[in-house]
This record gives sequence, C-alpha cells and structure tokens, in this order.
Amino acid sequence: MSANLQTPIDYLKGVGPNRADLLRSELGIHTYQDLINLFPNRYIDRTRYYTINELQRNNAEVQVIGTLTGFREVAQKRGKRLVADFKDDTGMMELVWFRGQKWIRESLRIGKSYVVFGRSNWFSGKYSMPHPEIELKEEHESNLRSAMQAIYPSTEKLTNKGISNRVLTKIMQQLFLETKGRFAETLSDSVRNELKLISKSDALLNIHFPKTPELLARSQFRLKFEELFYIQLQLILKNLIHKSKIKGFPFDNVGDYFTTFYNNHLPFELTNAQKRVLKEIRHDLGSNAQMNRLLQGDVGSGKTIVAFMSMLIGLDNGFQCCLMAPTEILSVQHYNGLLEMCKPLNISISLLTGSSKTSDRRAIHKNLENGALQILIGTHALLEDKVKFKNLGLAIIDEQHRFGVAQRSKLWHKNSSPPHVLVMTATPIPRTLAMSVYGDLDISIIDELPAGRKPIKTVHRYDNNRLKVFKFMKDEIAKGRQIYIVYPLIQESEKMDYKDLMDGYESISREFPLPEYQISIVHGKMKAADKDYEMQRFATGETNIMVATTVIEVGVNVPNASVMIIESAERFGLSQLHQLRGRVGRGAEQSYCILMTSHKLSKDSKTRLETMVCSSDGFEIAEVDLKLRGPGDIMGTQQSGVLNLKIADIVKDKAILEQARYFAKSVLKQDPSLALPEHKVILSTYRQMSKYRNIWNYIS
Ligand code: ADP
Ligand code: MG
Repeated sequence: MSANLQTPIDYLKGVGPNRADLLRSELGIHTYQDLINLFPNRYIDRTRYYTINELQRNNAEVQVIGTLTGFREVAQKRGKRLVADFKDDTGMMELVWFRGQKWIRESLRIGKSYVVFGRSNWFSGKYSMPHPEIELKEEHESNLRSAMQAIYPSTEKLTNKGISNRVLTKIMQQLFLETKGRFAETLSDSVRNELKLISKSDALLNIHFPKTPELLARSQFRLKFEELFYIQLQLILKNLIHKSKIKGFPFDNVGDYFTTFYNNHLPFELTNAQKRVLKEIRHDLGSNAQMNRLLQGDVGSGKTIVAFMSMLIGLDNGFQCCLMAPTEILSVQHYNGLLEMCKPLNISISLLTGSSKTSDRRAIHKNLENGALQILIGTHALLEDKVKFKNLGLAIIDEQHRFGVAQRSKLWHKNSSPPHVLVMTATPIPRTLAMSVYGDLDISIIDELPAGRKPIKTVHRYDNNRLKVFKFMKDEIAKGRQIYIVYPLIQESEKMDYKDLMDGYESISREFPLPEYQISIVHGKMKAADKDYEMQRFATGETNIMVATTVIEVGVNVPNASVMIIESAERFGLSQLHQLRGRVGRGAEQSYCILMTSHKLSKDSKTRLETMVCSSDGFEIAEVDLKLRGPGDIMGTQQSGVLNLKIADIVKDKAILEQARYFAKSVLKQDPSLALPEHKVILSTYRQMSKYRNIWNYIS
C-alpha cells in the first residue's frame, strides 16, 4: 500500500508550519501529492566544479569552490549591496547580495571554505555572482551530488525566506523516504505496454533524482503523456456526456427556405470547404444531440454564408435563430448583408444593439416572444434578460474569442432546453491548442478561400519612407481603390494613442486635401451613429481613405478597399495584424498590406513582421504566434485552467498531445463509461483528479 498522498504538507518531516505556509502560498503545495508534482524546471550538472580562471563572460551557471575572505557594503542608488570577496588558487571573484543582507552577513564566516553556485557575471573588470546558492564545503561533500540535479520552480519570497533549491531538494528526499518511493500506478497496463511507459514510481523517482539521462527522458515522456491523457479524457468525456444527456432539437427537415435559397438566390458557388462544413453542421442539427460546434476559418473564407444557411435549416424546422457579433459595426454589417438575402425569402430579421431605440427594442422583444421575428442579429445586447425567444433553435456567435465562455453559456439558457450553438472564429487556433482548449467542442474548418482571390502583397516599410507610401496611395486612389489606415489603440496608453491617431489624421488630411480626396475617421470614442455614418460613407465609396483604430479589425467587408496600412505595426500582435490584413483582398483587384514601423524593433517584433511578410496562411501565423506568446496569452485567462500544465508544454509536446488524444479516444471508444476492470485504474485516477481539481478551482 502506498502512502496517502493527500496528507497535508505540514506533516512532512522538516517542513513545519512556517515552511508549510510558504509552500502553500508561493507554490500552491498543500499536500504530499502537490509536492511530488512539483516538477523541476531543468537539471544542472553538480559534479562539475569551475576554478575562477576558467569562468567565461557568458553568464552561465557555474559551481565554484573557494574561501570567503571579506565582506564589504557598497552604497548604490537605492540602499546598499553586500559584497563578499571569494578566492581560490586561481583568482578572485565577488559574491553579491541586494537583499537579505543581515541574514547572509550573520550566517557566513570569513576564512571558511564554501561551494557557491549561480550565474557568473562579468562586471566592471571582475567576475561576480549575485545571490549565489552557498554551502559550507564540508556539508556540500556530505550531500549526494548528481550530474542531473533538479532545479525547482521558485519565487523571490521563497529564496528570501531561505527555502532555496537545496532545501526543496531535501524536502523532496524526505518525501521519498516517508513514502518509500512507492506510488500507485495511474495508467492502465494496456496503455503502458503499448507505449512502453515506465511505471509511475520509477517516473517520479527519476524526474526528481534522475539516475541516467535515458531514465530522465523516459520519465518526462511518461509524465507528460499522463498529464495530457487525462486532460483529453476529460474533454472527450464531457463532449460524450453532453451528447448523450442533452437532447437537441432535431432539425429533420431541409425545407423551403434552404432549398429555395440554394437553388435560386445563392450569390456564388460555394467552395468545397464551405460545402463540407455545411454538411457537418447539417449532420449535427439532424442528430438528436445538441450541436456545439466551433467553425474556424481564416478571414474572408466565407463563414457568414455558412452561418446564414445553417439558420435557414433552423427556420425550416420552425425555430428562431440568432447571430451575435462582438461589435456594433460588425453586427450592423451582418444585419445589412443578411437583410438582403432574407428579402426574397420573406424572412423577418431585426437588429438589436446597445444603441437600438427603446421603441424598436420593445417591438423586438414582443415579436421575439410571439414568434413573429425569425432571425435576430446583434451585439451582447442579445444576452440581456429582457431578450426572450419563443423558440430559439440555433445561436451563432461570431468571433468567439471576443466572448467569454460565460457568455456562451448565457445564450444557452435563453431557452427551456439549449439551442444548437455554432461559434465562429477567424483567429485560427493551432490544432494542438484547439484540441486542448476546445476539446469539448466539435471542430469544423474552412481551409479554402473563394476562388479568384489574389494573394495580398505584404511589405514592411520604415517611417522615413512615408512619402513613397503616400505616392503609392495616390496611385491606388487614382485607380479607384480605397485605403484603410489603422492606428494602434492599446488600453494602457489610450491618451497617447488617441493623440497619435489625431496627429496621423491631420497629416493625412494635409497630404490628401479636399475636395480631391475624402477621408473617413472611425474610433472608439465616437458615438455609434457617427461611426455608422462614416463606415457607411466608406462602404459606399464616398470616401477614399478610412483612418481608424482597431475597431475595424473584426469582420468589416468593403471589397473595393485594396490597401491596408498599419501604423506602428510593431505594436500589434500577430493575430491582430493578420485580422487587419484580412480587411483587404476581398475583391478582384490586387491588394496590398503595408506595415509601417520605426527603426527600433525588438526581436519578437521583427519575427512578427517577417512572418506577416512571408505568410498569408492563418494557421501558420497562429503557430508562430503560439510560439512567441505562449498559450496562456493567446487564449486569455478564462481558459488558463485547462492550460495550467505541470510538466507538458503544448507547443513543444505537440506529438505527445496527439498520442494522448488518440489513446484517450480509443479507451473511451472501447469503454465509454470506463467500466471494464482493466480501466479501473483510469477511472479512479480520473475521479480523484477531477475531485481534487474542482476543490482548488473553487477555493482560488
Ligand atoms: P469571413 O469568413 O471572414 O466572415 P465573409 O463571410 O465575410 O468571410 O466572406 C468574405 C467575402 O467573400 C464576402 O464578400 C462574401 O460574400 C464572399 N464569399 C463568401 N463565400 C464565397 C464563395 N464561395 N465564392 C465567392 N465569394 C464568396
Ligand atoms: Mg466574418
């Protein structure tokens, strides 16, 4: 029998109440289990010692044996630093502390031999090591040393309170002592055999105290696999349970609206990808389960028509449908576009946004409840409690990443039983991330642009080339094209950004004077009606140039606009740049995207700009974005729970993730309720994990 891993960490010998508090607050370690799952960030070779004359100016981590020969306090801008002279036979270096000086001063003895470990800096003609890990030589020699010594995650507070890596390692050793290093197996034999995974106990021992590099690698693989396996299992189970428990409205009929539209009013031939996705959606709607589908498709891939035709299926079955978009501009545009398509079919459709008039609202509320209104388009105004449907059958959410999961579920509860839900996003989420975050949704992908689109030419220009850019703009306008100029508007520096926008607008107005040129401007501080008016002027071709902040990022469709100029492009994220670029290239003409920046560019900015210039593939761009920013940033904090991985890395461990998903799927396919004896271990691990996870989620 293995030790009870739910034992509070306070009970471990050598921990005590103070350390227990710190471990809880700093590292979230409450139990033995949490401690065993504190996986090292990396490993260092503690069998190698450097002499001082061997040190290099490369800021590497080194271990040095020497004698402490004196202390000095050095005044600096704020406070002072403590400096110790440290000597060996080959030379002299300095040890430096900026904090905890009193404690250091009292606990170290001049004239004694120590082993120090840390990063060596080359600083004003000398090597120095700030905040070294330091240990008496005699003590150091009595400890076990390894060529692969684990380095644990830590925090400044832990270090300051004396819980160094050495202390953590000792506590970990104690845990292995008390548990005899025996831990219950958490994967089934069949999975382990098939992948030749090492046992849980061996994996845990070797992840903390690796015996050989090979065993370390196998431990890492096993633990990463396990972590990803259970996440996938949870997501797939959720999806399965959902499908079996929640009955959807079966949309059995493909009726008049759909066929009439398809045969007589379809404005263009659908792409193969659109057809395939529509088939997937129709299949969902016709089954007995409630649809929960994510539709991914690059900007301009034609998601709107898919949404509309899905709604027609809803109407054919006597249900109401709604489409929610994140901004007013986008809702208006959807409304105008769909209104045209609804007219010949005699479908009633309305628009509801924050700026809808009270009288209009009342009419909408009434007609929704009595069923006279068939399609409602709008912003999150749709989520207000007053908005009640008679029988909402399908809810579509455009640009999902702008809405939280909470909002998605609010739509769900608009009805006695949940409507089918289709969420659409133009921010392609890399497959690996989608698998982890949206594993509980079914995913459809439009991976083909409508025929005849010319790839957008993208270039990067520095600010001092502006005159050439102006000339280019004039040429394009002379050909009858229209141009977007976008300025960043980032919340924290809103005032400055606003000023940049206005300055930019002024200089553009000077360069492109009336009456020859007409300019629109749209930004967040304008009234909705003014924004609409300006957007409308641009959409109808009355104005040549649209100066805007990122309010136009999402969804706006003006096919005659063929040039997108992005100012301070280095300040935009990759997915935003890609979104913005997607505003052009919608017509038959050659389109251009010009990324303007200053000369001062960080490494990441350069990578982003190069990626934009080289690639037009949203999925490829999303992969780079994921590498640059990490998954947490991309998905926002709401989903970070799923991504709060202890050992696996969604970007680097893609292959393991795919394997984990494959195995989770095949286990559940064979045994959906995990009832077989051979899956007992999976079921109990899963139960324990979800219980345990929920508890901590609830508390934090
Ligand atoms: P997004 O996926 O970015 O929402 P839209 O639905 O706005 O894309 O479509 C972009 C443009 O392409 C629209 O003008 C739309 O009418 C047009 N479009 C969509 N599908 C096709 C198609 N199969 N053939 C030609 N044009 C299409
Ligand atoms: Mg769209």
